[in-house]
Amino acid sequence: MADGKVEHNSYEVKPHILERFPVASRSIWKDVSDKDWNSWIWQQQNRVKNLEQLGKVINLTDEERKAYEGSVEMFNMSITPYYAALMDPNDPNCPIRLQAVPKLGELYISPTDMEDPLAEERDMPVPGITHRYPDRVLFYTTHNCAMYCRFCTRKRKVSDPGSAAQTKQLDDSLAYIRAHKEIRDVVISGGDPLSNSDDRLDYILGSLRDMPHIEMFRLGTRNMVTLPQRITDDFVNMLRKHHPVFVNTHFNHPKECTREAFDACRRLADAGVVISNQMVLLKGINNDPKTVMELNHKLLMMRVRPYYIYQCDLSQGISHFRTTVDEGLNIIEHLRGWTSGLAVPHYVIDAPGGGGKIPLLPQYLVKKEGKKVTLRNFRKQQFEYNEP
Ligand SMILES: *Cc1c(COP(=O)(O)O)cnc(C)c1O
Ligand code: SF4
Repeated sequence: MADGKVEHNSYEVKPHILERFPVASRSIWKDVSDKDWNSWIWQQQNRVKNLEQLGKVINLTDEERKAYEGSVEMFNMSITPYYAALMDPNDPNCPIRLQAVPKLGELYISPTDMEDPLAEERDMPVPGITHRYPDRVLFYTTHNCAMYCRFCTRKRKVSDPGSAAQTKQLDDSLAYIRAHKEIRDVVISGGDPLSNSDDRLDYILGSLRDMPHIEMFRLGTRNMVTLPQRITDDFVNMLRKHHPVFVNTHFNHPKECTREAFDACRRLADAGVVISNQMVLLKGINNDPKTVMELNHKLLMMRVRPYYIYQCDLSQGISHFRTTVDEGLNIIEHLRGWTSGLAVPHYVIDAPGGGGKIPLLPQYLVKKEGKKVTLRNFRKQQFEYNEP
């Protein structure tokens, strides 16, 4: 269109698709008005931050009380009412509850735990930038998140207001990116970059977009999962100005695929944003093939492409979430061939010590003798391929 505006084509999503994405319950917030409940500012202001509030939403166990007391100094608890209402009040092993409410495992530092397992600080040329790969950087813009995930890799930084990126740091980071012409892709991270105001994000994205060597950027955000109300029309209209924009989000369980999440993804996808998912493999939450298959099918219906499954890393106090590598491989084994290739993400380990992401696959190459390559398929049948 001549004025550069894109018409929003309204369309209907079939009820049989929508009904797979149930509207979230409102738990103890039944009397809150729709206007407040659907406002991300209200959601953020009313986050559940202490035991007294949490005890009204779920039936707390003694373990959860002890774990809260022991962990609150190190890592805040903060749960949006929307996400808290997804928790099963009576099941301490509810996959939503395990992600949001502390467990005693957090107080245990295993001998193999590391303070900065991914060496993100070491590879920091300026505060706020991790430059590890040749053509792209990780750019930290805030240390706040809508909700604090108990398994967070960046626990040492996240939720600590003292370590928040100030405007000076932001401008230093932008100056670094401006000066390094080899950078073509910027991963905007945090914390959660959507904790920044739209104006601040507009400033960051606009500054990046003005650099001729920057081809694309991605926003790494969990807000579609923990605060889908944040994806407003104003926000997506701001993003539109900066295309191509990619969003990497972080769904871990099919229970997180609500109508609210569906609508948030729909607004982003309608605005032309390409959305991918980065799941973390978590014991007791999603370490079985059936759960991951269901999650990935739901994600595709939300126009979100499963991108990575991360092996849980070696950050301190999250050993109770870790699984074996075989469990990760087993999940891929049960996806590849059995379902759409689009539903099969890359399974990676972000190597301790800053080695970067290393992909792992079940062994499909049986043997190679001279020019004869023996392969096996997803049904474990063998086939030969002869090289030229
Ligand atoms: C994950 C990551 C990236 C992006 O990696 P992709 O494989 O391109 O998604 C970039 N820099 C750092 C430091 C990372 O950890
Ligand atoms: S949203 Fe991401 S950065 Fe924030 S607490 Fe959760 S895992 Fe950590």
